[in-house]
Amino acid sequence: MKYRAPKGTRDILPAEAAVWSHIEALFRHAAARYGYGEIRTPAFEDVQLFIRSIGSDTDIVSKEMYDFVDKGGRRISLKPEGTAPVVRAFIQNNLQAVNPLTKLFYISPMFRYDRPQAGRYRQFHQLGVEAIGSDDPLLDMEVIMLAISFLRAIGLKHTTLLLNSVACGNCRPRYVEALKDFLAKSHDDLCEDCRRRYTDNPLRLLDCKNPACKALLQKSPQISAYICGPCREHFDKVRKGLDSLGIAYTVDPSMVRGLDYYTRTAFEITHDGLGAQSSIAGGGRYDRLIKECGGPDLTGMGFAAGLERLLLALEAEATMPARRIPCSAYLIALGERARINTLSYLYKLRDAGLHVEYDYLGRSLKAQMRAADRLSCRFAVIIGDDELERGTASIKDLAQGSQTEVQLTALVDYLLQ
Ligand SMILES: [Zn+2]
Ligand SMILES: [Zn+2]
Repeated sequence: MKYRAPKGTRDILPAEAAVWSHIEALFRHAAARYGYGEIRTPAFEDVQLFIRSIGSDTDIVSKEMYDFVDKGGRRISLKPEGTAPVVRAFIQNNLQAVNPLTKLFYISPMFRYDRPQAGRYRQFHQLGVEAIGSDDPLLDMEVIMLAISFLRAIGLKHTTLLLNSVACGNCRPRYVEALKDFLAKSHDDLCEDCRRRYTDNPLRLLDCKNPACKALLQKSPQISAYICGPCREHFDKVRKGLDSLGIAYTVDPSMVRGLDYYTRTAFEITHDGLGAQSSIAGGGRYDRLIKECGGPDLTGMGFAAGLERLLLALEAEATMPARRIPCSAYLIALGERARINTLSYLYKLRDAGLHVEYDYLGRSLKAQMRAADRLSCRFAVIIGDDELERGTASIKDLAQGSQTEVQLTALVDYLLQ
């Protein structure tokens, strides 16, 4: 029996994992610069948390959740997204008592029972932030700027910022009515899902990927025409903030985001190199989510980016970041006596912060030199019986081709320079 990774999952092997770590480190750094602290929530939560927050009519909840009953009879779901768990943790730990504005970031695997395709997996990985406790439009701008700053840091250039206001609890019902009126006469032409959505949650019609529904919705009323005065004012301030920094964006009135909890500002960052499914990051404001999850009446703003999508975008731009710590030296100890007597130098060099390789396959000097070459090591440090007698090491500079002999006691300092 040969086992394979479950459908929709894959192994991240060392060369690629190094790129992942690098991107994660740049994200941690960007988040720290903006004053966001890390939060780590469990891999699974009470299924009701997601039904309640994301919305039962969304694709995520109705089709894609990894939900199950555990041995204690609890209904559980692996987390399909990051905001609801952070909000749950925020409420449970009473974080608003610690600080009136809570700024958090996370890096985490997420799980959705989706059809696997390029850059889409059933276990995928997100980097995200949530800022809870202020409805200042400039906070929306900060979150957008953090996303942009991070994408710049990893080297992505061909990105587009899409912006929209998806209305608030006061003005959204008027839009929903208008949308229903518009679709009333074509109700029978909608797909089965959309006929249900029409009654239960008409806003979700806008996410439908069915070509017939998409065509019908092309001329549908746009949410921006129905937003209330305060929503418009909020949106204008976000835009003015971005304008003042010269950040380019496109207002996309059709962008609604596939989750129920968004209010007011919604944004998405797309990448030119990814074809039809071009989104690499997205987020928005949620003004009722925290209260609906049983918490205080506070508002929040966040975004998440998909690591797998970012990697596809980086590949499209051919700007993969450095994959590994460069190798400083290959320590070649020839013979049993040299091996035993030089072990302390091997570990001293590594403790000093250098990447040092060592042979465990009993290879010849020539084969070890080839290995050093293949790993692009800067130096080969050769210690045979002769060197051992003299208490020295022969050092070959593989970049310049020169060779020198150094006292073993001075080896660490020499290589550190
Ligand atoms: Zn409004
Ligand atoms: Zn449909």
